[in-house]
Amino acid sequence: MRQDLLPYGRQTVDAQDVKAVVDVLRSDWLTTGPTVGAFEERFAELAGTAFAVSVSNGTAALHAAMYALDVTEGDEVIVPCMTFAASANAVVFQGGTPVFADVRPDTLLIDSDDVAAKISDRTRAVVAVDYTGHPCDYDRLRAVTNGLDLPLVSDACHAVGGSYKSRPVGSLGDLSAFSFHPVKHLTTGEGGMITTDDAELAARMRRFRNHGIRTDHRERAEKGSWHYEMIDLGYNYRLTDIQAALGISQLEKLPAFVARRREIAARYDRAFEGVAEVEPLSVSQDVNHAYHLYVIQLRLDLLTVDRSVIFDALRAEGIGVNVHYIPVHLHPYYRDHFGTRSGDCPVAEAAYERLLTLPLFPSMSDEDTDSVIQAVEKVVASYRR
Ligand SMILES: *Cc1c(COP(=O)(O)O)cnc(C)c1O
Repeated sequence: MRQDLLPYGRQTVDAQDVKAVVDVLRSDWLTTGPTVGAFEERFAELAGTAFAVSVSNGTAALHAAMYALDVTEGDEVIVPCMTFAASANAVVFQGGTPVFADVRPDTLLIDSDDVAAKISDRTRAVVAVDYTGHPCDYDRLRAVTNGLDLPLVSDACHAVGGSYKSRPVGSLGDLSAFSFHPVKHLTTGEGGMITTDDAELAARMRRFRNHGIRTDHRERAEKGSWHYEMIDLGYNYRLTDIQAALGISQLEKLPAFVARRREIAARYDRAFEGVAEVEPLSVSQDVNHAYHLYVIQLRLDLLTVDRSVIFDALRAEGIGVNVHYIPVHLHPYYRDHFGTRSGDCPVAEAAYERLLTLPLFPSMSDEDTDSVIQAVEKVVASYRR
């Protein structure tokens, strides 16, 4: 179908982005300067939160969130298994134990009933992952967590620009984590952010990203400007001004990026209405989907081959399909260290066998999109039962 491989995701960087980065490179501040603060302010505005704390990547954002909530050895944190490993790894960094919740079969989003079933007296927090860019059902999750006073962390790495019941992604969890990896909606090369309305949590995360050093300017002024205190063990998880400049420039284009992603998704939706072997994930009426990924589930009962044959055939057609995700509890690390096994999350495990991610990024043309549709139709037709 295509000579060149159409990737499943790709950044969009223009001359304005390049200029923004070059301007910072010529300035006095390459890191811990004013551009970082400006990026945080604009991001908080977009999320509708009081605070946004930038960090060096999305994994660091999740780690900072776990630290802020004081997750520690012996604590359990409920995480959906249908996600990138980092959502669970952040719990482990703090010495905690991820407890994997299953997902709903139509959206593959965390199942609040399974969350309720897996809460124990050691549960310290719940992580909701807005998988593919579809915000989770936060009201239902709150109904489970609020009575128990459990904080809700939103792993919103797929969902910037989306909303749930007209509330913006970023304002839905007590803490919401974002990634600016090039494959995500907006990029800073590597980068991350946590949004929150809680001043104390924000202050803890600012300290955490900077070696655990207290940034009390008044105290510094009183005791001498050389004076600082490291009061807890932290990391160097800072974002640079170079990255923040790119982030601000990218943020201006976010509405257009998301709009284009929705257009492409709508084109896929229309085309696959007529293809019985292809089931796109369901979308709730009460969300604005940010469409980081366009995921389909294959109807294997209507096909003569398994997903891997379809995957290889689409790759041979030049379509850069992918699979998101291998359920995290099936990775050898979690099996070996946490005793997880197949059967723990039956819905996600069954879904995994038939998942495919189709290419989706803002600079894809309608012709690119149609080449994906035609390749899917061709491959499916040749393996139709
Ligand atoms: C990308 C991603 C992360 C990690 O972000 P990085 O910036 O790559 O560290 C975490 N969770 C989810 C769901 C992601 O998609």
